[in-house]
Amino acid sequence: MQNDTIHLDLAELTLEGRAALVSCGQDVKRGQRIAISSSPGLGDLHSPVAGKVEHVDPFRIRIKADGEGEVEPVELNSLKGEGLLAALRELGADLPMAPSLNTLIINGVDEEQGIGSRRKMLASHQPTLERGLSAVQAIYAPAQTVLAVLKDSEHSLAGTASVEIAAKYPSGLDPLVALAATGKEAPEDALVLGLETVFQAGRIMETGLPAMETVVTCGDSQFLVAVGTPAGAILAKSGQTPKDRDRIVLGGVMRGTAASSPRQGVSKKTSAVMLVKNPTPVALDAPCVGCGQCVQHCPARIDPSMITSYAEFGMYDKAEAAHIDSCFECGICGYYCIARRPMLQYIRLAKCELAKAKAQAGEEVAQ
Ligand code: SF4
Ligand code: SF4
Repeated sequence: MQNDTIHLDLAELTLEGRAALVSCGQDVKRGQRIAISSSPGLGDLHSPVAGKVEHVDPFRIRIKADGEGEVEPVELNSLKGEGLLAALRELGADLPMAPSLNTLIINGVDEEQGIGSRRKMLASHQPTLERGLSAVQAIYAPAQTVLAVLKDSEHSLAGTASVEIAAKYPSGLDPLVALAATGKEAPEDALVLGLETVFQAGRIMETGLPAMETVVTCGDSQFLVAVGTPAGAILAKSGQTPKDRDRIVLGGVMRGTAASSPRQGVSKKTSAVMLVKNPTPVALDAPCVGCGQCVQHCPARIDPSMITSYAEFGMYDKAEAAHIDSCFECGICGYYCIARRPMLQYIRLAKCELAKAKAQAGEEVAQ
């Protein structure tokens, strides 16, 4: 893995629903908590640089790296169970609450072809992963821990049994990995954690400092970078320069999201930065022609054509009734759609609107 530091003049951190704790013009230390999470599987957010907050909006915080100072490390070794979970979440680990657990599944399979971040973590960061694994085992106390790896992979992790996953998209996505590991769909007594979450828990346990780094794939290489590193800087490090009409994608080509600009920073969950040259086919605002391809190929066995049509016309309650919550956002429906409809985008829009409506209803009940 290339562990070359990318010098950060500017860090741009995506809030992903967290609430900002800083305001424009404020000085921050490296490691200072800058946003707090109320989502179950999302830890708090910390500045990867010392400097001045240059911009805050509901979606992002931008920090100019021209300051000094770092927060003091936190002593974690005496903590366990819920106390350790709360401390790790506060220090940025994306760990969910999980009541009683039979199987803890660590997903070491890269989600899409062309991404090698988890594979490289397994190859190059075993001590950190083992430290992270013992922390998450101390929190969730599972009866068994399973590591999902690609079929014929030579990688393993001490303290886990391995389950092999076929190298065929979308087999490496969490719901299908859970099915392969337990034989059950959506098992209630199992939890799937991405390998990067175990890595981040390990970094926190090793240093006592917040999670501020992640591993991303760019081109043929993997880089250990600070969270908030601009996508353009990572592309430049790998020798790629975006041109007009090129698109920068955070994540893989099936499930990734287009960066709003080369300045957009990577998050703790960003597995890759990709440059898509002259992107075609471009999604169209076209009606469904009822070919049925998306229904035939959906691995969640739901009806993407109906769900996306409901989403298109703002009928989110109908999308919910059509089991949109079973969709695990593989993007296959959009891949097969001959009308080139933006299927995944409609699905994500509907999920976002449903979550907002539920949060609003919860607030009204609380008042
Ligand atoms: S993204 Fe489309 S194909 Fe994939 S699970 Fe969701 S509805 Fe099905
Ligand atoms: S693949 Fe596209 S055009 Fe065909 S049924 Fe699904 S949404 Fe409609």
